[in-house]
Amino acid sequence: MHQVDVCIVGAGPAGSTLSHFLHKLNIDHLLIDKSQFPRDKICGDGITVDVLNVLKRIDPSLLEKFSQESEMLPSWGFCFHGPKGQELRYDFKEAGFPVAPFFTSRRMDLDDFLIRELPAGGSGEFWPETELKGLQRLDEGFDALVHRQGEEEKIRCKIIIGAEGEKPVVTRYLGLEHFREKDHLLAAIRIYYKDLQGFDPGNHLEFFFDPHLLPGYFWAFPLSNNEANVGLGMLSTSIAAKKINLKKSFEEIIQRNPHIAPRFEGAVALEKTKGWGLPIMTPKRKIGGDGYALIGDAGGMIEAFTGKGIGPGMMSARIASEHIEKAFAQKNFNFQAYHDHMYRYYRSEIKHTYRLQKSLKHTWILNPVMSLASWSPLTRYAEDRMIRDFLKWV
Ligand SMILES: Cc1cc2nc3c(=O)[nH]c(=O)nc-3n(C[C@H](O)[C@H](O)[C@H](O)COP(=O)(O)OP(=O)(O)OC[C@H]3O[C@@H](n4cnc5c(N)ncnc54)[C@H](O)[C@@H]3O)c2cc1C
Repeated sequence: MHQVDVCIVGAGPAGSTLSHFLHKLNIDHLLIDKSQFPRDKICGDGITVDVLNVLKRIDPSLLEKFSQESEMLPSWGFCFHGPKGQELRYDFKEAGFPVAPFFTSRRMDLDDFLIRELPAGGSGEFWPETELKGLQRLDEGFDALVHRQGEEEKIRCKIIIGAEGEKPVVTRYLGLEHFREKDHLLAAIRIYYKDLQGFDPGNHLEFFFDPHLLPGYFWAFPLSNNEANVGLGMLSTSIAAKKINLKKSFEEIIQRNPHIAPRFEGAVALEKTKGWGLPIMTPKRKIGGDGYALIGDAGGMIEAFTGKGIGPGMMSARIASEHIEKAFAQKNFNFQAYHDHMYRYYRSEIKHTYRLQKSLKHTWILNPVMSLASWSPLTRYAEDRMIRDFLKWV
């Protein structure tokens, strides 16, 4: 049996970030993941400014290293393309900002980078190919049953952290209710392409609102090596109500939409369509309790409008690390305060982005919005969130 203070289940950006912070705090921990790294994760690969901020908080040299990796492509802006082809484009370089607010990176590279950069010989260890298979609550702490490279093993820990992504494992094994409501779940597909046309020289993140896809949206994000991450996502309730097949809609849009189709001339798909779920933020989901906390997608830390989850996942790890430090100092292992802290932190984000996601149902709102581009909820979103976020974090 292996004994440790904190066991983190899942080594995506949320789990590995928590490990980085626990190393800094010199807290004994074990990070496990069922996969061998590098591994893929279906994602849009858009890295937002909050990710850069968390990297800097771990260590400014980590952010420096990240931005120098050849796979990480700096992106200077974004563009919302309206249903009639209207454009709402913002370029941070033109606006005089000193550094790029976004990057793109295949998750194969980003997640591996975060693991590779974990300190060697510190207060924690990483076990790949180690899958959580069961959890037993003890008077103090837990026994976690894992399969490690084919062998059964037991890990005894005081705190268990669910960082296992969208498919719940920790709450299921603890016998707790796991909030999964279609109204708080997006579904999305991703396809990697080569030689997609029409990207801005500043490598902008491009979002398209096709009239037949609303309230969903289509994205095209440029990657290094002239590749691109392309996909579309929609709220699960709308998919069910409209009986939408995302893969079919994707194929139709790249043939039919006059603002998207020309970009695909000569482009080559590098893989088959792959889909995954995105649990979106809601305080209805309980993310901290007796001896456990959920971070990242396991805690539903995705913003409703853009599907951004890497930054909030890493931020939830940072906040969880503060509560873990307090838990050991005060010998109180209840994580209700972490739950309250997270929803206080994201309160305005939750309110605005969920409302915006819902408003996309109505093309009649989006069309005037995109042409007036002055008072629109979308412009407000761009100014309030994407630009203010940048100013807040840099
Ligand atoms: C199509 C799509 C597009 C997206 N686009 C973006 C985007 O552009 N930008 C953005 O910020 N966010 C985006 N997101 C959201 C983002 O991908 C997630 O929010 C992010 O991956 C969450 O990270 P995580 O560490 O919580 O979980 P994950 O990255 O899912 O990692 C969870 C880890 O847990 C491991 N695991 C699972 N079960 C077990 C087990 N039983 N035992 C041990 N290990 C286990 C898995 O192997 C995995 O490595 C997108 C999501 C989708 C589906």
